[in-house]
Amino acid sequence: MTSQKSAEMTEAGKLFIVGTPIGNLEDMTYRAIRILQEADFIAAEDTRNTIKLCNHFDIHTPMISYHEHNTRVAGEKIIEHLQNGKDVAIVSDAGMPCISDPGADLVELAIERGLAVVPVPGPNAAVTALVASGITPQPFLFWGFLPRQKKEQKEQLAKLQRYEETLLFYEAPHRLKQTLKALVEQFGGERKIVMARELTKRFEELLRGTLEEAVEWAETNEIKGEFCLVVEGNQHVQEEQVDFWWSDLTVKEHVEHIMERREMRSKDAIREVAETRELSKRIVYQAYHVD
Ligand code: SAM
Repeated sequence: MTSQKSAEMTEAGKLFIVGTPIGNLEDMTYRAIRILQEADFIAAEDTRNTIKLCNHFDIHTPMISYHEHNTRVAGEKIIEHLQNGKDVAIVSDAGMPCISDPGADLVELAIERGLAVVPVPGPNAAVTALVASGITPQPFLFWGFLPRQKKEQKEQLAKLQRYEETLLFYEAPHRLKQTLKALVEQFGGERKIVMARELTKRFEELLRGTLEEAVEWAETNEIKGEFCLVVEGNQHVQEEQVDFWWSDLTVKEHVEHIMERREMRSKDAIREVAETRELSKRIVYQAYHVD
């Protein structure tokens, strides 16, 4: 066991992990402003974004760029500053650093080198979405961004399908529709979902419904803004102790398998797969004919 008593570590500088607003600048905390003003350096994911925040709050601290492509080189430089007694505050473009954002490597490195890491909490999109979702907030599992590759995404969702915890995902608007379809394929269409859009901003919207309704919404609306998804956990784990033989198949593969084995027409196979997976025929039809 090692103990870090932040207030007693005065020799070297401290690494402050500072949360910043996810949209609404009024969510900036007094402490975050003070720490950013007093630090010797701000390590920013994108200095062009952070400069706007700094201008707004009268912060004039020099900035260092720290992003996912320079973590090693910039990380060593930051550690050097800390070892020389300088305080460094790390921020990301929005929300808490380290949470689907750069920072975790630096925290690990600082701890490895015996330096103090001080959290300065602020907004986080996932927790903000969770508390307003109306879906059981505990226990929850924060996943962040799912893999982009279809195969890896499917494998990941197949594992998550069994989880009873409320699941939290981030998704980019241009990938939302595909991700929602993948969720329906692996989880079925019945589960509750809340799509929290543009949280804390002017066009904040909470879209509540089932996964199947979410796909329908994504197919009929223009998808704009930032989204966080809150998905109900598996409510039927007890009944599902046995793995279904088709669990590892996509909806399309499932239909094809039935057509081949049972010499069925696609129309009948689609109906059967829809019943088995508790999906609407429309979703299965689309997965078979379009995807
Ligand atoms: N570190 C951030 C945090 O603590 O929330 C998350 C950064 S991650 C790169 C960005 C993703 O967070 C977006 O693609 C979106 O999924 C989610 N997000 C960020 N701001 C949001 C907002 N205002 N409303 C909804 N989702 C948001």
